[in-house]
Amino acid sequence: MALDRFGRKIHYLRISLTDHCNLRCIYCMPEDMTFRPNSEMLQDDEILLLARLFADLGFDKIRLTGGEPTVRANIVEIVRGIAATPGINSISMTTNGVLLAKLAGPLAAAGLERVNVSLDTLDPAKFKRMTRWGKLEDVWKGILAAEQAGLTPLKLNAVVVRGYNEEDTLDLVRLTLDHPWQVRFIEMMPFAGATAIQVQQRVTGAEIQAHIEQALGPMEVANGGELDGEARMLHVPGAKGQVGFISSVSVPFCSSCTRARLTADGLLRTCLLREHEINLLKPLRAGATLEDLRKLLLDAIWEKPWGHGLAEGEIPMNRVMSEIGG
Ligand code: SAM
Ligand code: SF4
Repeated sequence: MALDRFGRKIHYLRISLTDHCNLRCIYCMPEDMTFRPNSEMLQDDEILLLARLFADLGFDKIRLTGGEPTVRANIVEIVRGIAATPGINSISMTTNGVLLAKLAGPLAAAGLERVNVSLDTLDPAKFKRMTRWGKLEDVWKGILAAEQAGLTPLKLNAVVVRGYNEEDTLDLVRLTLDHPWQVRFIEMMPFAGATAIQVQQRVTGAEIQAHIEQALGPMEVANGGELDGEARMLHVPGAKGQVGFISSVSVPFCSSCTRARLTADGLLRTCLLREHEINLLKPLRAGATLEDLRKLLLDAIWEKPWGHGLAEGEIPMNRVMSEIGG
């Protein structure tokens, strides 16, 4: 079992499968983003080997992310390999949904259980403005395909940016009236690449909730008040779905964090919002034994930081969000 020095059992791994993306969301990366060469990235066999190693250490839950995980070559085969890894009993993906219309069926057949699809607005023009390159219609088709393929419960992630989509939160919440979906509002976190927007145009979860309740009336606590992962859950009375708030900046959930992240270039990051990383790919390619890697991992996890330092003004600037894996 992988424990940190604060007694937290770390068992949830987020793997960034690629730093590439077919969109350029304004809060994630610059439009002229440059990417690392493929040779510096984890190859398919290396991903599967590391997944087995993490599983041996008690990791039972994996989320595939990026960048955009669906643009990775062999994505279906990678999912199949991870799903077949002994010890892994939950495998999900965070995706922008653009390619899901085509891929939802094959991914579900390969063993993927659930998807979180990013959707910040239901207005096609605003969607284009926020993603720079995206067509809302593609994502909507992807969402319906995911539901049809049984990649449920379906969660929709919305990042709220002042001046872009505060008003659109209402239509997103209205989706939960008739669909058993979870719409989750994520507070913008600061990284390199889009720091000014991330800091200056952040809208807090409390502000979003107040805006929603002013228009639609008070929401009720859902899930018996239990967090769903990191999300505080509410629902509009009578709605089929739920509304979640992930307020990592204004209400950090660090004390209950059970996560580690593997970057697309093979570095272990034990806190999303801290720069410290441990290189796993280098020793792997230099011939380290599984036992060496196991020790490296356990030591790194033991040293997982207590929490992020945003309140003290510490912003991680060594990577953009898409390189770490959101
Ligand atoms: N490309 C996929 C997607 O967009 O769903 C997966 C990777 S993306 C980095 C993962 C999640 O992080 C998405 O829901 C995205 O909206 C969110 N995200 C991106 N930049 C963020 C930021 N600065 N603060 C908070 N969330 C962010
Ligand atoms: Fe791509 Fe996801 Fe970042 Fe948007 S949030 S640019 S879809 S990686």
